Amino acid sequence: MRIGFVGLGIMGSSMAENLIKAGFQVTVWNRTADKCRLLAEKGARVADSPRAVAECSDVVIAMMANPRAVESVRDGEEGIIAGLKPGTGYLDMSTVDAETSIESARLAHEKGVLFLEAPVSGSRQPAEAGTLIIMASGDRELYDRSLPALEKMGKKVLFLGDVGNAARMKLANNLVMSGMLTALCEGMALASGSGLDTAQFLDVLDSGAISNPMFRLKGPQIAANKEFPTAFPLKHMQKDLRLALRLAEEVGQPLFVTAAVNELYKKALAEGFGEFDSAAVSRIIRK
Ligand code: NAP
Repeated sequence: MRIGFVGLGIMGSSMAENLIKAGFQVTVWNRTADKCRLLAEKGARVADSPRAVAECSDVVIAMMANPRAVESVRDGEEGIIAGLKPGTGYLDMSTVDAETSIESARLAHEKGVLFLEAPVSGSRQPAEAGTLIIMASGDRELYDRSLPALEKMGKKVLFLGDVGNAARMKLANNLVMSGMLTALCEGMALASGSGLDTAQFLDVLDSGAISNPMFRLKGPQIAANKEFPTAFPLKHMQKDLRLALRLAEEVGQPLFVTAAVNELYKKALAEGFGEFDSAAVSRIIRK
């Protein structure tokens, strides 16, 4: 299967690399062309537009920052849809709202192209290791066809039915994650502000029922209160909160805590922490 890969950010670059390692023929494009160089060194072909990627692929995967970025590579003369031939597939793994995916499906179907949305859970390290959780929905035929590739990027792949379901599932998942991360930052601020040993605080958390891998990974980084490499950019977490709150409004579900968490992330964004890791929200809390 010839795979096109558009969007070589933190996640996309490692996901594409895993496909190359697995022996797929991969053609890439990225807005900042420099990021294609590393993939080319690993064996990828480089195309000069999303359309050119699509023209030589059986399936095009996109891993974009947000809904606007998805539209910018999907639409127009140089977009993915313009280059795809009937019978091929378009697989969007970006975290977006259901409406964006439904529109992608509509545009794909208009051209006789199959569509699957497949957002992921897991960050930089699972993307590198090929151990993401992949939530897919849309055209079952494209899911079946793409499974060998999805299994090279993830350790668990779920099919969730109609297009839109995977986007909604991913937003519900990140709502939980952002709340847990914020609670960890507040707990840490309270522990350290009241003179407690933060290593002991983390040990207590890790010994009980709320122990989890995220606390184990981010806890020491937050406790150090220094800058650390970005795994999940804070700007993307705020985007996910915004989309989750919009979904909640659509279905009439109040989200009391998530609304407050979103305000905190908006403040962190306004203070210039957008490119930092999402755990940088602790810098706002500590102030
Ligand atoms: P990232 O490093 O910020 O990469 C974003 C990608 O989108 C880059 O290729 C970027 O191109 C491209 N892009 C942004 N705006 C664009 C535009 N207007 N036109 C064309 N290209 C544009 O993000 P990431 O961390 O890889 O995340 C990608 C997606 O996965 C997001 O939806 C995120 O929410 C989701 N996700 C991330 C993680 C994580 O831990 N990082 C985990 C799960 C899900 P340039 O290189 O030119 O900027």
